[in-house]
Amino acid sequence: MKEVVASLMEGVKAKNPAEPEFHQAVAEVAESVMLVLERHPEYRSARILERIIEPERVLMFRVPWVNDQGDVQINRGFRIEMNSAIGPYKGGLRFHPSVNLGILKFLAFEQVFKNALTTLPMGGGKGGSDFDPKGKSDGEVMRFCQSFMTELQRHIGPNTDVPAGDIGVGGREIGYMFGQYKRLANEFTGVLTGKGLNWGGSLIRPEATGYGSVYFAAEMLETRGETLEGKICLVSGSGNVAQYTTEKLLELGGRVVTLSDSSGYIYDESGIDRDKLAFVMELKNERRGRIKEFAEKFRGSVYTATDGDADHNPLWQHKAECAFPSATQNEINAKDAKQLLSNGVYVVSEGANMPTTIDGVEHFLEAGILYGPGKAANAGGVAVSGLEMAQNSMRYSWTRDEVDQRLKMIMQSIHRTCLDAAERFSTSGNYVNGANIAGFLKVADSMLDQGVV
Ligand code: NAP
Repeated sequence: MKEVVASLMEGVKAKNPAEPEFHQAVAEVAESVMLVLERHPEYRSARILERIIEPERVLMFRVPWVNDQGDVQINRGFRIEMNSAIGPYKGGLRFHPSVNLGILKFLAFEQVFKNALTTLPMGGGKGGSDFDPKGKSDGEVMRFCQSFMTELQRHIGPNTDVPAGDIGVGGREIGYMFGQYKRLANEFTGVLTGKGLNWGGSLIRPEATGYGSVYFAAEMLETRGETLEGKICLVSGSGNVAQYTTEKLLELGGRVVTLSDSSGYIYDESGIDRDKLAFVMELKNERRGRIKEFAEKFRGSVYTATDGDADHNPLWQHKAECAFPSATQNEINAKDAKQLLSNGVYVVSEGANMPTTIDGVEHFLEAGILYGPGKAANAGGVAVSGLEMAQNSMRYSWTRDEVDQRLKMIMQSIHRTCLDAAERFSTSGNYVNGANIAGFLKVADSMLDQGVV
């Protein structure tokens, strides 16, 4: 089977050149799925794996807009409609200068398996633009979002494709895009999730990814009879996922000692309490400032600027028991993974998508720690997006408590599903295999039922 993966990857690289993140995501899933293909030749003859790695549709378009100085700007927009075997395409939009086709294809691919794990009927998609909202005025962000949606609206709809937020796309951007969609389609419908509470949003959606990642960690710890109480936690990022991961960890008795942004990270040995978290939320969500200001405000905390030439990320060098990478892909490499293990970390719950490189993952698996890969651990965000879609269809809203309870139940179910699948394919405790296999089986069986499409 090793040769099958090698030959599959050779084909993937030849057909999708210069897309290393996509190759990485496919390689990781293919390794796990081989365990299934060995036992189930029906998936091989229907060429399910080969079909699943080919997007159903890729949209790429020009996004022209005018900045505050009156200069014409041009960005590139994308939407990857990866797989609709179990429901409408569903997945976020990322606005970041690093965005390219390969990154969005990796994210869309991961999304297919993640969405299948949530128990809700959602296919996989992802999109975005190389637009950088940092340093732009609200007016510029609005004009960009309107231009982006003017094209995207032709391709999406509440029963076709339902985008949401991701890096660089929060409540403000979703609002501007929803407004433009509604204007063009002349229809008020749940075409986006992550909407404002007054206009169709769900309670707990902003919190869902971070809360879910912490619930997943708590479930993993419970298999060893432990809780998060008193555990020292490293969190990276300071955006949506990092903020609500920190909030839930505080509630469950964890001590969060780090946060970061792309310019650097802060270490606060005494722990980030509720007041400090409120400062971070105001800094990041309203003033749109840099995490450096945290260390200027709170004595005893230390700021370290990012060194672009370093071969490791110093945030992962602190003593802790748990790590919650919640910024971006490949933020933990093999060196970082080894460092984490030698400093005592034995719980890793990935709020970000694919934050650990393949050799980093190998170190975690070899060490036998509680390692929850992103497509399981951060599925809470899309799960509550699914609940937002359900509420929109019913024209009804659940209470905060109802949504939080459902989120918790979904995370418990994902955790159990991963463990069961790993066990069934003789790799007990391996959440990577568990998530990949369980997600694959649901989508593969649906594809078999629906014929060659
Ligand atoms: P966000 O609110 O935009 O925050 C992203 C954070 O990560 C910011 O602190 C940002 O710093 C940092 N970051 C982004 N790119 C970076 C880079 N290349 N190097 C270092 N730091 C970087 O986004 P988010 O929604 O929290 O998303 C974070 C991660 O979670 C992503 O991997 C995303 O795909 C994943 N995720 C999000 C959701 C969701 O519901 N939002 C769901 C599932 C998974 P700067 O401000 O300096 O850029």
